[in-house]
Amino acid sequence: MDTTSQTKLHDFADMMLEHMPVGVALFEAETLRLLTANTRFQAFLGPCWQEGKAIGQLLLDWIPETHIPSITAIFRSVAETDIPYRGEEYPFHKEQSITYWNWMLDPIHDNEGRITHLLLTISNVTGQVQARQQTEKVHASLSQTNRAVEIERKRLEVIEKVARSVRESMDIESIGKAAIDIIVANFLSLHACVSVHIADPLQQALRALYIYPTSDPDKQQALSALQHIPYNSSLLMAKACHQHEPIVIEDLYSPDASGSKSSLLAATGVRGYVCIPLWFKDHFEGTLTTTFGESIHVDGPEVQTLVGCSMHIAAALAHARLHAAIENEHARMRTVLDQLPEGILLVEAADECISYANAASVSILGVPLIRITGFPLSKLAQSRVIADMDSSPIPLEDLPVVRGLRGQTISGREMMVTRPDGSKVVLLCSAAPLLTEYDVITGAVVVFQDITERKSIEQEKNEFLSIASHELRTPITAIQGFAEILQMYLSRGDSLDSTRSLRAISGIIEYSQRLTRLIEEMLDISLIEKAQLLVNLVPCDLLAILTHVIESQSITAKNHQLRFVMEGIEANDRLIGCFDEDRVMQIFHNLLSNAIKYSPAGSEIEVGLRYTQDRPDEVLTWVKDRGIGIPAKEIPLIFRRFHRINTSNRFIKGLGIGLYLVQELVARHGGRIWVESTEGVGSTFYVTLPLKTYYK
Ligand code: ADP
Repeated sequence: MDTTSQTKLHDFADMMLEHMPVGVALFEAETLRLLTANTRFQAFLGPCWQEGKAIGQLLLDWIPETHIPSITAIFRSVAETDIPYRGEEYPFHKEQSITYWNWMLDPIHDNEGRITHLLLTISNVTGQVQARQQTEKVHASLSQTNRAVEIERKRLEVIEKVARSVRESMDIESIGKAAIDIIVANFLSLHACVSVHIADPLQQALRALYIYPTSDPDKQQALSALQHIPYNSSLLMAKACHQHEPIVIEDLYSPDASGSKSSLLAATGVRGYVCIPLWFKDHFEGTLTTTFGESIHVDGPEVQTLVGCSMHIAAALAHARLHAAIENEHARMRTVLDQLPEGILLVEAADECISYANAASVSILGVPLIRITGFPLSKLAQSRVIADMDSSPIPLEDLPVVRGLRGQTISGREMMVTRPDGSKVVLLCSAAPLLTEYDVITGAVVVFQDITERKSIEQEKNEFLSIASHELRTPITAIQGFAEILQMYLSRGDSLDSTRSLRAISGIIEYSQRLTRLIEEMLDISLIEKAQLLVNLVPCDLLAILTHVIESQSITAKNHQLRFVMEGIEANDRLIGCFDEDRVMQIFHNLLSNAIKYSPAGSEIEVGLRYTQDRPDEVLTWVKDRGIGIPAKEIPLIFRRFHRINTSNRFIKGLGIGLYLVQELVARHGGRIWVESTEGVGSTFYVTLPLKTYYK
């Protein structure tokens, strides 16, 4: 520095020092005496040391007593070690305000490097400090807000997860487990125990749906006590059914909670407790209960989260409950519909496919349920399984079900359906549209009856009527013929006892007897139909009745050899039972005349009677022929009214009512009838009749 510039610095040094934004003070290194200081520095000193009063004084004299040890130590250290001191943000309290200062204490050396002075510089950093403090405050409050947001986010996430997992579930059991799994996995502490109970209004109790942890050796007793909680139990949870607000115990060990301290809770080391009643509208669905190993707060995140989850669990339980109730109702309806003898089908308008078939429709149509449901109507017409009674195929648009879908109601339409096995059934079919309350067609219902049997009886009845009229006409024509011949013989002068006249008279008698028999059989049929065919059962001897029948039949059955076989009894024995003599004779007359009718002339017919000590209360009889026999598939049908086997022999006349009558009469005597037959070999009709006593 040249002399000019040194001079200038000297001229202005004081001014510069005085106006610098920092406080400056110079100390003697050895004594720590203040040699000089600008005004800004002196402003720091106590009022009595300002305005130069501290200049020339030792540091120890004018700094506040409390600061002496620390500050003198710093000064000494710089003076001895030559290491400058930097002190930051030193707070300075003055008249209730606080300012912050950075301190720098630097050693000053003489030409020989000795520390002679110490230069103290202080600069005001209050602005920066305050700005930083402000920023820190903002940061702190921000991170607090962040924490709150994070807790809230977590809470909503758990609630959302619970909502999602239970929303679709129709299974009540899995709702509890799904909800608890999420609650446990997402926010509960290790020692928590959480359970969902479902309300059972019938038993007036809560039933555990799921309890976490499922097994804990220390809590076995508590877990089993929680399985079934009657509403009148002393457990806290039982109170939930009477209230909408959660039951919260913040800290079981606080004096406030002493009333709620149940032995069960105390035994399981619980501190915090929340039981939330699960209400859906005005229906109590159950409870969501959680116990905590630590204390909780009623407004804390645990309670808030559980309350949030509880609404979704309640809604899901209600949903599942209603769904189960509807399912139950459906199942009940299906059971009822499956009991009906009529077939019922439902067809959806949306896809025109069969959506429901009851048990009767499966058996009537002979198609497995799995193939009926989902079957599209369009395929029905192609399959040509449905036809009119004249066998012409019914066009799709004319099917009752399709007309039902078009809004029409059809009743009593007869149609023929060919089953997959080729057999045909006659159906009496009705259909109607299924409408919503706004008259929108959502589908159609078809109800059908299997009238195959009724139809075949009707057909057989018609055949019977035509045969009957023919059968009646034949003897009448014969009687008329014999009468006319007799009239002619008499007009020619023949006497009534002439051979020709007598033959005509016996012809008239024979045919009028046949006519009487026919008419009587027909009357019997109508009596059976009206349930008026009664038998007059009185004790009589069956052996005598049978002997009489055989004797009278052998007169007419001249072309056959009649044989009477007795097993286990003698000709003079008696088989006493309660019989209607005329009707028993009718039974055997019928069987014998069939045997005669359906077996060739000259063949043997056996009438048998067997009595054994094993069955002392009944006797077995049979009529055996060596005739045309009965085809196996016809055997179950021959006892049916009007049923006749279609034989090639058109000359064998009959009405198809004889065996039906025989069967009815046997049944009225408490007996049984059956047949064993081989086509082309012969038939044996067996009849058992009950006995009262057997006399030797
Ligand atoms: P029908 O008046 O036609 O004889 P039934 O009711 O007595 O009527 O018999 C029914 C059918 O059973 C007969 O049409 C016949 O085909 C068969 N049937 C009855 N008895 C015999 C028999 N002994 N042998 C062969 N077929 C018989």
